[in-house]
Parts: sequence; C-alpha cells; structure tokens
Amino acid sequence: MSSTTTYTIPKTQKAAVVEKAGGSITIKNDQPVKSPEELEPGECLVKLECSGACHTDLHAALGDWPLKAPLPLIGGHEGVGIVVAIGNNTSRSPVKIGDRVGIKWLADSCLNCEQCRKGREQNCSEAKLSGFTVDGTFQEYAVSYVNHVTPIPEGLPSDAAASILCAGVTVYRAIKYSETESGDWIVLPGAGGGLGHLAIQYARVRGLRVIAVDTGDEKRDLCLKLGASNFVDFKSSKSIVDEIKSITGGNGAHSAVVTSASPEGYQQAIDYLRPGGTLMAVGLPGEAKLEASIFFTVFKSIKVLGSYVGNRQDAREAIDIAARGDVKVHFVTKPMGALKDVYEGMKEGKVAGRVVLDYSKQ
Ligand SMILES: [Zn+2]
Ligand SMILES: [Zn+2]
Repeated sequence: MSSTTTYTIPKTQKAAVVEKAGGSITIKNDQPVKSPEELEPGECLVKLECSGACHTDLHAALGDWPLKAPLPLIGGHEGVGIVVAIGNNTSRSPVKIGDRVGIKWLADSCLNCEQCRKGREQNCSEAKLSGFTVDGTFQEYAVSYVNHVTPIPEGLPSDAAASILCAGVTVYRAIKYSETESGDWIVLPGAGGGLGHLAIQYARVRGLRVIAVDTGDEKRDLCLKLGASNFVDFKSSKSIVDEIKSITGGNGAHSAVVTSASPEGYQQAIDYLRPGGTLMAVGLPGEAKLEASIFFTVFKSIKVLGSYVGNRQDAREAIDIAARGDVKVHFVTKPMGALKDVYEGMKEGKVAGRVVLDYSKQ
C-alpha cells in the first residue's frame, strides 16, 4: 500500500433504507458500517460524497420489476467517494486507499466467465448490482469491489461525475454499439430528459447528427443548445415518422436509442429508421412489450439490439469524456433526506435532468 493516509471509520452512519416494497424510505442514523477487518478480499469501503438518484432506484423501492430486490435495501448506484479501506489479502488491486472512485450499477462480476471474458460483465451470472442485490450508495459508507469501482479523474467534481456512472454509461454504450459512423443520423426520443440530455452530448462527441424528440420549448432549447441538429415535438408533430424522414432527406435515420417505457417509441423507430438501421433498446420498463412489424424489420434489414448499462471499460470511457468537459450532466444537489420527495417527483415525471444527493448537505 503506497498510501500512508489512514481514515477514521465510524461504527454507524446515515443511510436511506427501504424496509418494505412500496417505495417508503426511512433515513436512519444508526446503520452499521462494515469495519476494515470485516472486509473480504477484493472488497473496499468507500466513504461516499454524493450519489445520483436514478429511475431504477425507484423501481427497486417499488418492487415493480420482474426482478425483485431483497429487502431491507439501501438503493443507489451513481455514487462517488474515497476508498478508505481495502479488505486484507486483496491481491493486485487496481485502486488504493485515498483514491476517488465511482460505484455504478454493476458492483461486481466474476471476471472469468464467458460473458465477462467477452466484455459483457453486466451479463455475468454472478453479477452483483449496487442498490439492488447489494446495498448501494444512498449511505455514507458503502462496501464495493476493487475490480469494478471506476477511478474518477482529478478535475471532475464528484457531483458532476455521479450521474455519468449510470445514466451516462448507459447511453454512452448504447451509442457506441449503435453501428453508426460520424455524420450519421441518430434519433433520441426523450432527448430532454435525464438520459437523453447526456445521449445528445455523447452522440455529438462521436460526430453524429442528432434528431431530438421531446416536447415543450424548454426541452427544445436545451436539446438544440446541447448540439441537436433538429427537434421534433412529439405533442405538436403531426407525424414523428414523417418529420424524421423529411429531416433525413426521405431516407430515415441510421439509428435510434430508445430509452422510453412506452411501446410506441419502439414501433415508431422501426418506421423511421432507414434500411439497415439499428434500434438500440435501453430503457428497462417492467411490463412493456416490444411490438414491431416483423415484416418491416425483415424487409428493411433492421437490427434491434438490447444494451444494458455498461462494463468497466465503458464506464472509464464515459467518465473520461466528461472529465475532458465534452459532456456535462445537468443536475441539482439535495441532501440525502430529500430522497423521498425526489421519488415522488419521479413518479409524477417532474424531475428535470438529474438529482444528486450531496452528503455534506444537511
Ligand atoms: Zn441507473
Ligand atoms: Zn462473470
């Protein structure tokens, strides 16, 4: 261990705990903190500075997904903090005590199975999920895993990095695998939202031409400011499909990254993609079915690809782009105690951009 810093680690801490399904959050001040001696090899203790709040956390708390989280549960998977302890007998740790790291949805994976070897760590059968199968980042001290935490480059503030770890990584990977090249047209439904506003920026970094789909003047202004070439207002548009086709010279777009929970978003994409186009399915709605025309999917040689969060490399790339200033999260900070209200806002669709809980705030 090259670092000589030692940290005083308390026995108890503050945490936002979901005790039973239904979304009720209790802020507790007496949650136990795992002591450094109790850490298993490969585990690290991260003193969190902040954590983003994601829609997935709401699903976990509500228990409305086909997968259920064990309860009681501490949610959160967009956390940034300092490694304050590493389990004894950890070999070849890529991080050391004192490093600032991010904790993402994929907390850990075996690194040795076929999925892990092929870079689909998120599909590992032994994957641990932050804030879902293991306690997440809505607490002051989280246990995480040295091989999977994401180093945060100096100069990128922790609160600005937080939402890159889920929202950013998710859209970054989807765009990376969208089989598009510089100059291609990409459609981003929900472009003014939490994932969408990051997707516009990552798409621009890759030289893509962005057609943003959302509604309202505020979102139009935001999307165009972030670099979208065109904005289609789904409320006032007579036909989203026709409008996208006309913008793209009649041919249709090369790709669409669909994060929405509604099946229509997927059906429309099959219609406005050009032949050979790629539909990236990214959102994780609990119930919605993908209903697309099989005829036109085949006839137009459309590719439909699921893209699920991202692996360690995707996380590093997404964070590095943000650290260079090419992608910025639009967020507001709130204290941990505001989480309940944040969930209420999400249910009503009122949260613009992202909310980051700042643990230095009371
Ligand atoms: Zn998330
Ligand atoms: Zn594995």
